[in-house]
Amino acid sequence: MHIPAFHAKAVVMKHDVIILGGGIIGVTLGYYLARDGLKPLIIEPGEIAGGTSGASFAWANASTKTSDAAYHRLNADGMAGYRGLMAEYGGPALGINPSGALQVVSRSDAPGFEAMVSDAKKLSGFGYRATLVDHQTLREFEPGLSFTDDDEALYLPDDMIIDAPRFTREMARLMQSHGGAILKATPTGLIADDNGVVSGVETSDGPHYAAAVVTAAGKDTGKLLADITGFAPFASRFPLRQVPGFLMTTPPVPPETLRHLIYTSTTDELHLLPAPNGGLKIGSDDVDALIWEDRSPQAMQAAARALLTRAKRFLPDLAAMVDVNTCRLQIGIRAYPEDAKSLIGPLPGATGLYVIATHSGITLAPIIGSLMAGWIASGKAPGQLTPYALSRFAGFA
Ligand SMILES: Cc1cc2nc3c(=O)[nH]c(=O)nc-3n(C[C@H](O)[C@H](O)[C@H](O)COP(=O)(O)OP(=O)(O)OC[C@H]3O[C@@H](n4cnc5c(N)ncnc54)[C@H](O)[C@@H]3O)c2cc1C
Repeated sequence: MHIPAFHAKAVVMKHDVIILGGGIIGVTLGYYLARDGLKPLIIEPGEIAGGTSGASFAWANASTKTSDAAYHRLNADGMAGYRGLMAEYGGPALGINPSGALQVVSRSDAPGFEAMVSDAKKLSGFGYRATLVDHQTLREFEPGLSFTDDDEALYLPDDMIIDAPRFTREMARLMQSHGGAILKATPTGLIADDNGVVSGVETSDGPHYAAAVVTAAGKDTGKLLADITGFAPFASRFPLRQVPGFLMTTPPVPPETLRHLIYTSTTDELHLLPAPNGGLKIGSDDVDALIWEDRSPQAMQAAARALLTRAKRFLPDLAAMVDVNTCRLQIGIRAYPEDAKSLIGPLPGATGLYVIATHSGITLAPIIGSLMAGWIASGKAPGQLTPYALSRFAGFA
């Protein structure tokens, strides 16, 4: 792959690193760079956290990532990152709620129950806290919910709920207090020499220079790479799918309605959590399909009603109590790498240009941010990120 030269000239660099994209990934990276004494500049054409990070369920967990030990570890390290930030700045200030999660399964659902027991074993093997709780304990954990007589649960005390817009904006503020900067502008080209050595970005605000440029544009990564390199096929061939997801957030509900993040993953898949506004945030991967073809307000309302119907399992009166017209209905677009693992590392063919694009970006932001900051500062690739190199895809070797 050849990066076309815009122009490279001797300039004084005001910034050490330019980050393209002000979602949770770009901003958290900016925070770690600035905290470590570098000067990052985030270039964002829209609002901070205005992309997928503002429309996410935002459950920080490694509990649903059990098929690959290294990926599980990376996610668990992301959660350790949140615990570190919480110890430094306080959970409420950053929008981190260490609520824990409960995966509820009926004992009569034999395959579902077996899968839960098997997950519990795998998680314990990874050193991740996961305990089976009986019906009575489940009721004590969630006195505001209804359960069937044979419901039991897997308790995941370390899972967390993140108020992702708040966290991202707070990271942006902390980054700026450490000397980082944010620019509202659109990148138009890379500044690079004939050998593909990158030294900055052309933007709608003029040129900005730095020895390293990182793209953190989420679902728009392919388009951004096409725009700044002039290599149009990036837009269609970048190994990332866009998968829409639907979420509803109710107005505030009585206190103590829900204490933990609750999910079911077998029949009538559903996940709900106590939202930062005092309401309930509800989603279901099955219901997402209802808005894939049709994203009209009518389709969104139908999806919301489907969620309320599913939520009757735990909250029989919710559908009668909540008017969908008073709920926040959101569609967020997941950036799903083709093999479901993160894409992290240098863009082959360019020196000084790094790409980050990932799903589970809420969980992963602290660990990707801190590892990438160390990589850029030291020039040494961290071993944990080796499995996520772009070179695993044809055309990126
Ligand atoms: C419904 C749903 C539920 C989810 N649930 C979870 C969950 O429970 N747990 C979890 O860990 N993850 C979850 N995710 C995924 C998670 O939200 C994302 O992985 C994460 O928000 C991605 O952050 P990001 O910073 O990479 O992207 P974004 O937040 O999309 O940020 C990218 C930024 O780049 C900007 N940008 C776009 N084009 C350009 C350009 N040309 N130049 C500069 N900037 C540009 C955009 O404006 C945007 O601000 C969920 C996602 C969805 C949609």
